[in-house]
Amino acid sequence: VKENGKNNYMLHSDDMDNIALHKLTIQHEMRRALANNEFILYYQPQYDLASGQIVGLEALIRWMHPERGLVPPGEFIPAAEESGIIVPLGNWVIEEACRQNKAWQDAGMPCIPVSVNLSFRQFTELNLTGKVASILEKTGLKARYLEIEITESMTMDVERASKCLKELTELGVNISIDDFGTGYSSFHYLKSLPIARLKIDRSFVRHIQQDTNDAAIVAAIIAMAHNLQLQVIAEGVETQDQLHFLRSHRCDEMQGYYGSPPLSSANVLELLQEKLNR
Ligand code: C2E
Ligand code: CA
Ligand code: CA
Ligand code: CA
Repeated sequence: VKENGKNNYMLHSDDMDNIALHKLTIQHEMRRALANNEFILYYQPQYDLASGQIVGLEALIRWMHPERGLVPPGEFIPAAEESGIIVPLGNWVIEEACRQNKAWQDAGMPCIPVSVNLSFRQFTELNLTGKVASILEKTGLKARYLEIEITESMTMDVERASKCLKELTELGVNISIDDFGTGYSSFHYLKSLPIARLKIDRSFVRHIQQDTNDAAIVAAIIAMAHNLQLQVIAEGVETQDQLHFLRSHRCDEMQGYYGSPPLSSANVLELLQEKLNR
């Protein structure tokens, strides 16, 4: 199985001929897969740019399909969101990430926060905070080792988002804004919501060297985040030049293939062991 699951499974356009049928099949398949434990989490390390230390792990779901192999999330998350299966699936992700993180800690590994991606449907579920609290209780993970990633569009209803995020942060969970800069950006929420961190979308990082507009945007996001007392992490860092740019603009953290691709839990354990022995 390839490390980052990319290209292992691609839908051919023929398969897409009957979109409705395809959707029904995939929904049925996902329910079966959830019951059969076919989903797994990979974890992508996040590094502090000043020290080079691992400071976080983002949980990224994959589907170990019995026939198709490792299916990346882009191929089933949209259908899961549309059908509502994302709610039980998303709850599974939160619980599995917390359970795994606690298991690493119990094995004597350095304590590092794990972040999970939240879908809009989960965010608008009644009593998300209650669910998260009961998962923390059940797994024994301290809230400060769980982080939740939401996107800008989820904050459009500022009043609702504010209430929900306030509850989560009162539990001790940190909130990051994912894919920052690609959504419906309003600066209003940045000052009114309890957010700890911005994640600069990789579309801005990709051409940071060649495109002076992208470079200006990234530099501005970093400066703004710091002025608002927010941490800032760049996604999709693939080259040393990108890393140098980010470091020279005092970006706090980075995530991307240049640091590490998403890893299986066994490979994360090896990495944490190395960190311990250093
Ligand atoms: P995301 O949250 O923006 O996650 C980062 C994606 O970028 C991951 O793709 C990761 O493998 C990829 N990536 C990391 N470093 C690099 C790099 O240097 N270059 C490039 N080109 N790509 C890089 P992945 O794992 O395929 O996930 C895709 C998206 O699926 C995620 O984007 C997220 O929106 C969604 N997703 C993944 N897991 C979950 C989940 O548990 N729940 C929900 N709701 N969505 C999820
Ligand atoms: Ca994310
Ligand atoms: Ca992202
Ligand atoms: Ca993204």
